[in-house]
Amino acid sequence: TPATTLAYFGVDALIDDDTRDLQAAVRGFVDRRIRPEIATWYEQGRLPVRDLARELGELGVLGMHLSGYGCAGTSAVAYGLACFELEAGDSGLRSLVSVQGSLAMYAIWRFGSEEQKQQWLPRMAAGEAIGCFGLTEPDFGSDPAGMRTRARRDGDDWVLDGTKMWITNGSVADVAVVWARTDGGVRGFLVPAGTPGFTAPEITRKLSLRASVTSELVLDDVRLPADAMLPEAAGLSGPLTCLNEARFGIVFGALGAAHDCLETTIAYARSRQIFDKPLAAYQATQLKLADMGLELGKGMLLALQIGALKDAGTLDHRQISLGKLNSVREAIAIARECRAILGAAGITLDYPVIRHSANLESVLTYEGTSEVHQLIIGQVLTGHAAFK
Ligand code: FAD
Repeated sequence: TPATTLAYFGVDALIDDDTRDLQAAVRGFVDRRIRPEIATWYEQGRLPVRDLARELGELGVLGMHLSGYGCAGTSAVAYGLACFELEAGDSGLRSLVSVQGSLAMYAIWRFGSEEQKQQWLPRMAAGEAIGCFGLTEPDFGSDPAGMRTRARRDGDDWVLDGTKMWITNGSVADVAVVWARTDGGVRGFLVPAGTPGFTAPEITRKLSLRASVTSELVLDDVRLPADAMLPEAAGLSGPLTCLNEARFGIVFGALGAAHDCLETTIAYARSRQIFDKPLAAYQATQLKLADMGLELGKGMLLALQIGALKDAGTLDHRQISLGKLNSVREAIAIARECRAILGAAGITLDYPVIRHSANLESVLTYEGTSEVHQLIIGQVLTGHAAFK
């Protein structure tokens, strides 16, 4: 019997029993609930976010690495491995969980007042309330420091104006964490859905992350009470700290998509007869599979190292760049190579490979593009910042 790639690397020996059980529970959920439906959702360009959020809340993965307020308080590695399994299902599913737990909930958990935490976190952990995180603007993605969205004081109130773009879960969210420029620097605000002047039209015609809601956030004289501001986040370091949390999940998640592609492709190549033998028995196929397996396993070892550093409390955010760049870049290369090995069968939604490949185009771009992470790594290695 052939070995699966990660078993071949002996990865399980690096994961404790409880974490393995948790990972298996997430895998079971994805097998049962996501795999039978995902191709249809993808084709239709929709995701039943509300239903899934409640189920993911029951599973305990929403804000799972946070403590208190109904969150599970797991290790970082456990959260990473949950992301791996979710993204093996679809990057859209993992995005839902990343944005909810690592961006929206984390922002409130880390920077919110006690009242804000009590109001939102237990319901968000249960999947009864959905959050989104609005940082990117139409003209400012990689350079959020340029943001134009503004919050000005009017008496005790805040009044927000501006537009956010490419916001995951925007149209379905009950609360938007919106980052805006104030006279005192960048601050975060909690904007409940339905606040007058606030709309979140969905972005359509996507050919990547089709099973994910992506939206614009339009803020037109949105009046908020004084206590809508996150009191503990001052400056751009607030949103950037949240991004580090979500990037950490992607280090593992992208490898889940790659793993799904590779295992699918190995099974296909073993059963597909070409001339007089299985496709898997040709040297040319094996060279490709060996290289992809090696990259996947190496990527997983790097992810587990980054996870171990995070659990030890010594992770430097610049180390996450190593994992985000490597995992996503290798995952997309694996997905594309696997698609080719599947031949014509690889171009339909009957196999997950082209869906993962198209999804990973978004994952390559969001949470810091590859170039941005290369520049972060370049600065660590040389001492020179080359961003501008
Ligand atoms: P740009 O910043 O315009 O970059 C364009 C190109 O220029 C890229 O290749 C980039 O690498 C390159 N580049 C940029 N700077 C440099 C440099 N200094 N040197 C060399 N090259 C450079 N944002 C949110 O706030 N919340 C969300 O929930 C969210 N969800 C998203 C979901 C999807 C599906 C997508 C696609 C995006 C999402 N985003 C979200 C936005 C995402 O974070 C941005 O798209 C990302 O930061 C890149 O910004 P941009 O698209 O404006 O590209």
